Amino acid sequence: MPLSAIAAFPGSTLPRIVSMPEPSSPGPGEVLCRTLELGVCGTDREILHSANPWVPPGEKFLVLGHECLGEVMGVGAGVTEYRSGDLVVPAVRRPKPGETRRLDYLPLGKFTERGIWSEHGFSVPQWLDRPEHLYRVPPAIASLAVFAEPLAVAEKGANEATNLQAARLGAQEWKSNPPRVLVTGMGPIGFAAVLAAVARGWPVSMYGRDEPDSFRARLATELGATYIPAEKVTWEPADAEGDGFDLCLECTGSDDIMLAAAGTLRSCGIMVWLGSTRLPQPASRNVEKLMRDGLIRNHLHIGTVNAAPRDFHDALSHLAQLQKTHSRQLASLFTARVKLDESLWHYEHRQPQGIKTVVMME
Ligand code: BGC
Repeated sequence: MPLSAIAAFPGSTLPRIVSMPEPSSPGPGEVLCRTLELGVCGTDREILHSANPWVPPGEKFLVLGHECLGEVMGVGAGVTEYRSGDLVVPAVRRPKPGETRRLDYLPLGKFTERGIWSEHGFSVPQWLDRPEHLYRVPPAIASLAVFAEPLAVAEKGANEATNLQAARLGAQEWKSNPPRVLVTGMGPIGFAAVLAAVARGWPVSMYGRDEPDSFRARLATELGATYIPAEKVTWEPADAEGDGFDLCLECTGSDDIMLAAAGTLRSCGIMVWLGSTRLPQPASRNVEKLMRDGLIRNHLHIGTVNAAPRDFHDALSHLAQLQKTHSRQLASLFTARVKLDESLWHYEHRQPQGIKTVVMME
């Protein structure tokens, strides 16, 4: 029986439901999984908006879906790590054959990404995988685990910044003085960045354009962040060393916001670019100011993408940790749960106060 999936086609900005063949039984070393829940992400919308998806070789479309909670349906010969009924989150990125370097640092062309770069994603009800690409999900966080992949992306930003800071300032620096963190942006990655900071015990502020009494601003506050609305922000603090931030997790992808936020960094601050757009606009602006601040204050600007196994493990354990103190707030990150045939609208639009839309595949 053919299975339905959500696909992006070259030359079109519209998502379409397509038929996919049912996967075969798992062969040696393979795991057959079914998708229980699928997260809709800004990357899905940008792939569609570009009308230029990276289609797998020889195919006419790209099956979307890279944020997934799955369940193991069966395993092939030799698979001992998983058995039917186990809950899993699959990794997005896969190395090309023969690659042994760290996966999330591979150059373009040396990997595929399921649902993004040249390999079909998880919006299909069933798929085959290999155990090394799966992360086990404790049943207690089943209702949150679809958020593990975007959270892992934010965890990578926090972990890379911590490692870089330890390398240049000493391992104790952020341990004894928790960094003051600024998160710019109120989308899912912005909220993931807040969770990554809160779980580490780092004081965090979230900058956004929402009204202070709106749902998302209140949620940020309830999660433990200080909300800074656009009309109250001071991008050029008189005393950057006193009032500024040690780490900016930039989640808007806006060069205006990034340049402004760089002005709030203290000495030795780190700017981590977590958000970006595939559709950059030409612009001219004062990048010399960014360079001057960066030079005088020894800033680091780093781009990070994807996530390492370390970051997935952190994401899953932080979801379990935060569920004990913030279970209602975590549940409210999922602002819509829809069926497959109702999901197409969400692939094209963002709800005004929406954070994460989840497609329920049952
Ligand atoms: C995914 C990452 C991926 C990146 C670039 C993001 O939406 O979460 O895993 O590496 O897109 O394709």
